[in-house]
Amino acid sequence: DSFQDIEMGEIIISNIALTRYTRPTPVQKYAIPIIKNKRDLMACAQTGSGKTAAFLLPVLSQIYNEGPGEALAAQKSGGQDNGKYGRRKQYPLALVLAPTRELALQIYEEARKFAYRSRVRPCVVYGGADIGQQIRDLERGCHLLVATPGRLVDMMERGKIGLDYCNYLVLDEADRMLDMGFEPQIRRIVEQDTMPPKGIRQTMMFSATFPKEIQILARDFLEEYIFLAV
Ligand code: AMP
Repeated sequence: DSFQDIEMGEIIISNIALTRYTRPTPVQKYAIPIIKNKRDLMACAQTGSGKTAAFLLPVLSQIYNEGPGEALAAQKSGGQDNGKYGRRKQYPLALVLAPTRELALQIYEEARKFAYRSRVRPCVVYGGADIGQQIRDLERGCHLLVATPGRLVDMMERGKIGLDYCNYLVLDEADRMLDMGFEPQIRRIVEQDTMPPKGIRQTMMFSATFPKEIQILARDFLEEYIFLAV
């Protein structure tokens, strides 16, 4: 019943200690081993349950373990692959979609704490804020991207983001994203040709509720998933 029991690498474990989380919450206790076993996951969990760390810790730990050598070098960043405006395009290894700017920022702040000193660089993009500044931040490198769906589609259209190497996909508060009308943007992102297909990428969905529309999204996006309700 401690984070030490979940093998996640020294840096991540010491960063958890810095956040002063002493014991995993139930969703963390059950979801982290499932994600580490590379299974797709549909988790019903409320805000306040600790769901953010439940997906960030295993995803960051897997990116970290695969890199900073191979996976991070697999990114094509480096000037050859220019976006529409002639600047570097980023290929995140993990993508977290969230419904609102507030939630995206919370996830990003937590990712920064867990990724501290790891060479894994999180970024966040959301609507209603200066896109130029977000682009400049992306160009400094982006391994884990937290995004609201509309702004991500905009970034993709501008040639700033490619999802060719995105082997980890998280949909957080999926029911809220559908309530807000983001299904077309989400499908556009997830179902584009360059995104690794389900079964190749690992996909995790978090939702407070599990209505028909979420079941359909789970059927379409997840491969033989494990269902977890806490
Ligand atoms: P979340 O459900 O991810 O929004 O998390 C709710 C709150 O619980 C956040 O303020 C987290 O920082 C905090 N939290 C998450 N996991 C733990 C933990 N294992 N121990 C203590 N606090 C936690």
